[in-house]
Amino acid sequence: MKRVALLGATGSIGRQAIEIVEAHPDLELCAASSGSSPLDGVDAPLTQVGGDLTELLDRAEPDVVLNAVVGFAGIHATLWALERGVDLALANKESLVAGGELALAAMARGGGRLLPVDSEHSALFQCLEGRSTEQVDSLVLTGSGGPFRGRTRDELGSVTPEEALAHPTWRMGPKITVDSATLANKGLEVIEAHFLFGIPYERIEVVLQPTSIVHSLVRFRDGATLAHLGYPDMRVPISYALTYPERAATPLPALDLTSLTLEFRAPDLETFPLLALAREAGERGGTYPCAFNAANEVAVAAFLAGRVAFLDIAGLVGDALAAADGDPARDLDDLLDADRRTRAFAQEGLRVA
Ligand code: NAD
Ligand code: MG
Repeated sequence: MKRVALLGATGSIGRQAIEIVEAHPDLELCAASSGSSPLDGVDAPLTQVGGDLTELLDRAEPDVVLNAVVGFAGIHATLWALERGVDLALANKESLVAGGELALAAMARGGGRLLPVDSEHSALFQCLEGRSTEQVDSLVLTGSGGPFRGRTRDELGSVTPEEALAHPTWRMGPKITVDSATLANKGLEVIEAHFLFGIPYERIEVVLQPTSIVHSLVRFRDGATLAHLGYPDMRVPISYALTYPERAATPLPALDLTSLTLEFRAPDLETFPLLALAREAGERGGTYPCAFNAANEVAVAAFLAGRVAFLDIAGLVGDALAAADGDPARDLDDLLDADRRTRAFAQEGLRVA
């Protein structure tokens, strides 16, 4: 029996994870949490709404933590698992983006596994099969391009939260759906890939594949390129992370190859500046990725609340990055401090926006 602590159990990933756990005889929930919504109908011996997730994890003693919290709030659980060598199935990309160096140091001390749940990173993990970085020419992250792919900047001036939330290929929580519309999500994923696989930024590419069938690719030095294909359904990477190194059956249909056409396009970096801004924050290192994430979280919440326009999201993040000091985070307190300072700066930007 593998004991799973599911954090963010009421969310998009959380609900799909419950389906996977219930269908698999060797998986059981030992704990479940949510940020504020009630956990009605979630069958776990320990449950918690709000509060300190590390206290719940201490009591639950899980074999694997599935961190499906949204946002930087997931950092404590990520570090808890990595520090103790408890397997971490990570959907909460924001914690690894913001605290990548601290997370890798904690993992080195703890000696556990970090199993990506993000579909692109699960795909890369499977194509890489643990091969050393020198065999890899580059990682190619795919993205659908979101609901506004092909639009000009002028056409984005007045788009509404409702339009941004209408993702063409994935059904996800609101924050990541807006990030997919701005391409900030692909930017976060570039940084996530850098920390997960130890590949330098100049060897991490992004390409758009509008139907989200190709989940990512690895180009190897011998000229071979391996791709991971499948229908866009998060139950596959969730199941892979929870049952690794097994590949448990899922209810997905076989891929109908003769009905597919696979198109690839370059992303429009000028219309969607958050992808390049994230890459730049990653390359600068230190707490720049943390600042990128914090400002983006504030800006996305303000957009969803109708307080700022879609194009203001990138403006607010750009301003926050320009003001950030990017100092390294020696410990969690430094990181929390960098996050807090950038949020305050972005909130101030909202006040005058
Ligand atoms: P969601 O908004 O649907 O669910 C978020 C969950 O986190 C909810 O259970 C909520 O109660 C909980 N939560 C929110 N704030 C919290 C806090 N401060 N403390 C503790 N718990 C809190 O989000 P989602 O779409 O399921 O995404 C979860 C994570 O997975 C995000 O980091 C996202 O980027 C990542 N992810 C999601 C998908 C997807 O298909 N939904 C795909 C790839 C990666
Ligand atoms: Mg993804």
